[in-house]
Amino acid sequence: MIVMKFGGTSVESAVAIERVAAIVKARLDRQPAVVVSAMGKTTNRLLALAEKACAGERAEAARLLEELAAYTLNEARQACRAEDWAPLSGFIESHFQELSAFLDELAGLGEFPAQYVDLISSYGERLSSRIVATAFRHFGMNGVHVDAREVIITDRRHTQAAPLFSRSYAKLDERVKPLALEGKVVVMGGFIGSTQDGFTTTLGRGGSDFSASIVGAGIGAEEIQIWTDVDGMLTCDPRILPGGHRVKMISFGEAAELAYFGAKVLHPATVVPAVEKNIPVLILNSRNAENPGTRIVAEAVPCANPVKSIACKRNITIVNIQSLRMLMAHGFLKRIFDVFDRYQTPVDMVTTSEVSVSLTIDNTSHLDEICTDLRKIAEVTTDNTQSLVCLVGDNIRDTPGLGARAFGALRDINISMITQGASKLNLSLIVSDSDLQRAVKALHDEFFVTLDEKVFDA
Ligand code: ADP
Ligand code: ASP
Ligand code: MG
Repeated sequence: MIVMKFGGTSVESAVAIERVAAIVKARLDRQPAVVVSAMGKTTNRLLALAEKACAGERAEAARLLEELAAYTLNEARQACRAEDWAPLSGFIESHFQELSAFLDELAGLGEFPAQYVDLISSYGERLSSRIVATAFRHFGMNGVHVDAREVIITDRRHTQAAPLFSRSYAKLDERVKPLALEGKVVVMGGFIGSTQDGFTTTLGRGGSDFSASIVGAGIGAEEIQIWTDVDGMLTCDPRILPGGHRVKMISFGEAAELAYFGAKVLHPATVVPAVEKNIPVLILNSRNAENPGTRIVAEAVPCANPVKSIACKRNITIVNIQSLRMLMAHGFLKRIFDVFDRYQTPVDMVTTSEVSVSLTIDNTSHLDEICTDLRKIAEVTTDNTQSLVCLVGDNIRDTPGLGARAFGALRDINISMITQGASKLNLSLIVSDSDLQRAVKALHDEFFVTLDEKVFDA
């Protein structure tokens, strides 16, 4: 058995769904279970129109919902057989009616509580999974829709729910595995789950990759395939710098670090179930299915290049904390981290000196409260014009002179923070947003001029 996950662009239209069907059909002998994201930009669109309803723009929200319904119905109709259309269109229409009723509730509330964020955004995957399952029949496959919320069980942390692994694995083993073994092609939505008492939750943005690896671990798959719109993990983020090279093979540790520090092609939690059950993860291109993609494996990948790839995150915020009370004192860092913990805000990077601590955060939704609390113990300034650049590679830890090469390449660029990650396989730098592209290019030119052909495409 294998798990095949298709992202938003891979299922954005009837034409794209047809490509997906051909890819799955060519692999039926491997007993695939399929996980899909919402079609195209559906998640963003659902969230945007719900925000409108909350802000009192109910008519505009209705108009946007109608547009989304028209797009969904149109692509679905072209993707499925005539005889499947009546039940499928009924399913889609009733879901849009439910959404419309939720918009009324949100307009009444005037705010967008996290439970509603999950409820509304779940419709993207609920619809796409049913549409793709139906479309598979059109291509001669036995597509069976399973509502992911019945098998992915999570805690109650709405918008960032954590899966309850053993419960989810038991459900997947009971519900999905037998169908796959019988030759049925199960299609489930990624991203969504439910609490034990049945409330809809989501695993966080980009979470369908994570769903795929939970499904893979739950059914005991031999491989987890993440099908997306690029040829695999590239040596740099193509949105920042085009022309990166495909990385043929990379370790779980390296992939996790890249994902965590901004390589959107993989959700950072994806490797967790895969590592636990030692299942290889492949990143593949649904528009270029012949390309072998990137293989993510448990063992270290020997490589003549010290760096495997460069990840980056734009618009991160630095919080500078300064206090003379830190001098010779103990417990100060704990007090600082307690504040971030209280507001459930992850810290990415930390540097300390005698009387100051600088740290970076990505999620600024509680920044004001955090600063207010920190100001009780220290002086605090923030800067939201910075970007993080992260060099990742197993060899970074024992390559003498690597820092000198990186800083030499960036000689004309101001670097405001530096850390060599605790995992020893990354070197992270903070530069201003306006220097990001120049910094990535300079580092890429430095570290990828000659390429180890066993690991990279030329
Ligand atoms: P999907 O909808 O299939 O989940 P995503 O948009 O979430 O796709 O992720 C794929 C995108 O990740 C690519 O189109 C690319 O712009 C971006 N990306 C960022 N860093 C990298 C990288 N190092 N290698 C490949 N893609 C990357
Ligand atoms: N549809 C969700 C999102 O846009 C999950 C995913 O695509 O992985 O975040
Ligand atoms: Mg994604």
